[in-house]
Amino acid sequence: MKKRILTLLYFSLVTVYSIQAQKYTALDSLRGSYHANRSCYDLNQYHLQLKVDPATRYLSGTNRIFCTGLSESRSLQIDLDQSFDILSIETSGGTAKWKRMGSSVVLQLPFLIEPGKKFWLDVVYKGHPHTAADPPWDGGFVWETDSDGLPWIGVSCEGEGASLWFPSKDHPADEPDSVFLQYEVPRNLVAVGNGQFLGRKAISDSTYQYSYKVTYPINQYNVTFNAAAYQTWSDTVLLPVSGKVLKMNFYALREDLEKAKNQWVQAKTVLSVLGRQFGDYPFPNDGYKLVQTPYLGMEHQSCIAYGDKFENEAFGFDYIVMHETGHEWWGNYTSANDHADLWIHESFCTYSEALYVEALQGKEKAMDYLVFQKKKIKNKSPVHGERDVYFHDWKDSDMYYKGSWTLHSLRFIVNDDVLWFDCLRSIRSQFGMKPVSSITLQKHMSAFLKRDLSPFFQQFLDKTQWPELEFRRVLKDGEGTIAFRWKTEVKDFQYPAPIFINGNPHRIETGNRWTEIAFRDPIKTVEADERLFLYRLKEVK
Ligand SMILES: [Zn+2]
Repeated sequence: MKKRILTLLYFSLVTVYSIQAQKYTALDSLRGSYHANRSCYDLNQYHLQLKVDPATRYLSGTNRIFCTGLSESRSLQIDLDQSFDILSIETSGGTAKWKRMGSSVVLQLPFLIEPGKKFWLDVVYKGHPHTAADPPWDGGFVWETDSDGLPWIGVSCEGEGASLWFPSKDHPADEPDSVFLQYEVPRNLVAVGNGQFLGRKAISDSTYQYSYKVTYPINQYNVTFNAAAYQTWSDTVLLPVSGKVLKMNFYALREDLEKAKNQWVQAKTVLSVLGRQFGDYPFPNDGYKLVQTPYLGMEHQSCIAYGDKFENEAFGFDYIVMHETGHEWWGNYTSANDHADLWIHESFCTYSEALYVEALQGKEKAMDYLVFQKKKIKNKSPVHGERDVYFHDWKDSDMYYKGSWTLHSLRFIVNDDVLWFDCLRSIRSQFGMKPVSSITLQKHMSAFLKRDLSPFFQQFLDKTQWPELEFRRVLKDGEGTIAFRWKTEVKDFQYPAPIFINGNPHRIETGNRWTEIAFRDPIKTVEADERLFLYRLKEVK
């Protein structure tokens, strides 16, 4: 039974992707699509128990995966990197058999999954985890030492996924509703995971086990492990909307303690400012942590990784504290249901940097910040990736900077800041903790803003040319009429553009056909207003 389902799946995927793109294999589809062996069950909870041995750089442990059936099946898929051995898979209904195909692990179950039926899988595993060559861009474990020569360990896996280091249902479309983490480490280290700290207990003469509980749904790649001889302190911040107290806990190396205490106080400002803009910090019961890591940073939910230099950017704030905390709203609470739509994480978060500058330093400074971001747009490949495959082949950083400018340009179209911020907040209330596709999100924004935004999003997220606003002087110079049209790769691009006529700002409404607009005064100059909308202006004769 298992084999036949798999064979059918295998062939249908091969056929689809051999037509669309040769570069993907059936294994990529098995890993990246939400096929029947994944959609037949819903994740409820992970209980990850892990022993980490820094001396041998070795992991051994168990992940008990609690699930609820969604449709009938005798097989299901989990994922685990090939560098690990699976020792056994017990389930609530007996011992399971399994077959490994790349990083996919397909289980033959001793029971039938049925809708509503609860069950669990206990995966015992061990091995040397992949060591990251260039974290956090290349994921994996990072084994560093502090200035006292003590281990300083972290892991990041945004591109590769959680199965890089523990057995998981590694697809963004499903999130466990809660996670229980228990990390055993040598006694001279402090282990830090996401969520609430539950306690520490002695396991052997040389090790302690640290326990944490995440009480909200969490992205797979956000589950994390840190260990070092951390110095810790606590603080609180008032959540601006509810007025409730949020607990904050900080973990820094001894040699950086004073610098961290000075720099990380900015997290309170970020939580206050973004709370006012997008609604309160979305994981209040789990608290907020900042942890010093041996890699630049990562948005690990309620347990932000910080590995920067404790210095401010030119705009006067700490980029990693701001950006990674911004992900708590964009990426962690509102998440993409396929890696191809990761712009939902990065574009909104990068745009929130500009809104942060706006809140603290005003609109002019925020414009300067956006111009600084714009210089990084490359237009090498679309912002959207390819869905249903193991896609992580990003050619540039456009999902950050072009994505930020997509949203900034949309704000110009909306032309109503109250409505614009209401729209941003509506995304959170509509899709929070329910992973969403880019298309569904776009439809929601179109409906909320009462304007068809599909050509707009297609042009900015699927195409790589700049929208070009063409203009020509219709009559002789000095008679005040100009024709405008959008030249775009998509049809029906009917949106306003900001331009300067004789140095004065105007909002031009046009589409892909010529629209003539009469101006009162003779036309001397026509210039693009490049601070409000992502486009280029071109005069044609
Ligand atoms: Zn990011």
